[in-house]
Amino acid sequence: MEPLDRDTAKKLYKHYRKNRDGIRNCPEMASICLICESIHIVPMEGNPYKLVCRNCGFAFFRYQCSACGATIDGRDPKNPPCETCGLRVCTCGACDCPT
Ligand SMILES: [Zn+2]
Ligand SMILES: [Zn+2]
Ligand SMILES: [Zn+2]
Repeated sequence: MEPLDRDTAKKLYKHYRKNRDGIRNCPEMASICLICESIHIVPMEGNPYKLVCRNCGFAFFRYQCSACGATIDGRDPKNPPCETCGLRVCTCGACDCPT
């Protein structure tokens, strides 16, 4: 993905700080930290479901649903934690945890 310019990042940050609904559907939010506004987000080592901010260390769920392909973002209120395993789950309700 192309690096975000600061203006775009700032606008998106401001918008989603106030209204977290929809973060999952915004590809740019994969590289914006909602805590410190940093755009230095990297995959978390050893955890394929999470990304981590290199600036403040905040980690959040962001991954693709294996059932429907939609993006899950733990910062989005529409992606609640799974009652069984605690992983943030897709709006379709599917979870990879063993049943
Ligand atoms: Zn941060
Ligand atoms: Zn899904
Ligand atoms: Zn689960």
